[in-house]
Amino acid sequence: MPPIREADYARLSKDRRGLSENVTIQLAECADTREESGEAITFVAAFKDNDASISRFGKKNKAKSRVEYPQLLELIRANGIDRLRVTELSRIYRDPSDLEELIQLGDITTFYSIVTTTGAVYDLRTAVGRAALRDYVKVNAYESDLISERAQRKKRSQARQGLPNGGRRSYGYAKDGVTIVEEEAEVIRDIAARLLKGESINHIVRRLNQQQVSTAEGAKWYKPTLINMMGRKRYVGIRVHKDAEYPAIWKGIIDPVIFERVQVALRVDEQLKAQRSNPRKYVLAGFVFCGACGRRLHGTVKQDRPSQPKKARYRCLSYSADQLPTGCGRVTRLAEPLEDLVAAAVITRLDGDDFATFFSDTEEDSTRLRAALDELQAKRQKLTELIGDYYGDNLDQLTREQFMLAKGATETSIANLEGKVEKLSAKRGAAVLPVGQSIRETWLNSDDLGWKRSMIGLVMDKIIVHPGGGKPRYEHQLTDAVSKFDPEQIEIIWKV
Ligand SMILES: [Zn+2]
Repeated sequence: MPPIREADYARLSKDRRGLSENVTIQLAECADTREESGEAITFVAAFKDNDASISRFGKKNKAKSRVEYPQLLELIRANGIDRLRVTELSRIYRDPSDLEELIQLGDITTFYSIVTTTGAVYDLRTAVGRAALRDYVKVNAYESDLISERAQRKKRSQARQGLPNGGRRSYGYAKDGVTIVEEEAEVIRDIAARLLKGESINHIVRRLNQQQVSTAEGAKWYKPTLINMMGRKRYVGIRVHKDAEYPAIWKGIIDPVIFERVQVALRVDEQLKAQRSNPRKYVLAGFVFCGACGRRLHGTVKQDRPSQPKKARYRCLSYSADQLPTGCGRVTRLAEPLEDLVAAAVITRLDGDDFATFFSDTEEDSTRLRAALDELQAKRQKLTELIGDYYGDNLDQLTREQFMLAKGATETSIANLEGKVEKLSAKRGAAVLPVGQSIRETWLNSDDLGWKRSMIGLVMDKIIVHPGGGKPRYEHQLTDAVSKFDPEQIEIIWKV
């Protein structure tokens, strides 16, 4: 009979009976018993893993994968061994499927047996050997279940009594989970208030870190930390256990009504983020003009260098879409800081005391609006005729160049008139301000471009962007962004 080819497997695991031994001792034990057996054995290889608990509630440890165990399985699949030697079965066993896999490999490879240093032999070729192995699994799983059931029962009962669940300290409370840490409670209430005022989560997080306020773990704040924290019902005095809620023995920190509103604010912040990824529109189109040549600036997406991200800008175009010369091309400005500056100015203006005066509709405005609307209608008619003529009989014998010039000029005056009409009709837009919301709240929460343009038109005549200058750092007023942008170069022509 040829010698039996054998491999050893050792694993460091925290045995709940406290019998954990290091892998070197386990492997030495394997070698000793092999020698003592007096059998003809060829030792092939030893495999070892340093991992963790075999019990079910060691979830975190369980997630770690074993490194050498898969190598052992490979060796078995390659018909490299006949027998496996371990100090006890629990070294292999982590999941019922582990032993089942070995049983199956016994069917298709040269591998046929597991022996332990305590003298147990499991012969996979026999029904008795396989049954013994499976029994071991069942007993072990049952024990493990009993332990975890007991633990679960205890947790459930603690939850029902509203007791804290232990574990890590919650921000705002001492380690006992009950005593309020007033200084931290203040921070939580302040965060809630800021969220309700429409401050962005990023902005709040940055402020906390700047003020060197640290988390319960003494760490820096991140957006998910804050979102997670502000969504916890612990702060309204509720103990949550597996979706069930129980009145807690501790006092809440936030008023339940405010808590609900905070949840809405957190969702809005996420929605705003989603909107930002949509193709952008240019809220200032028609309001911004070139400080060098006086022409309208156009919203475009332009890349400075191929390596840089594309950024939305307002530009004075040297050539129109028809490739005809238009502006001077000297002014280009990042859209985001410019829009932020304008929006902040609009909000400040409209939140001011003289806001009400904007809503009194004057007769002069109505007259101007009617005139602008008539003129707009006439120009649109002219454009239609122009195009119809050129592509039809072309009675005026226009060359293509002449036609394009005339078309371009008409389109420009239509665009200007549209801007004028929009501005003059802005008061209608102002009337749709939701009741009980400040301009600021509405502005931050709204993606209604038309309404925003109405608000701008209500207070601003035009915005002139002057050329040149350095590139100072500009901290956005409505978001937490920072841009290279010089507010000094922007001239706002107010209406009132
Ligand atoms: Zn220009």
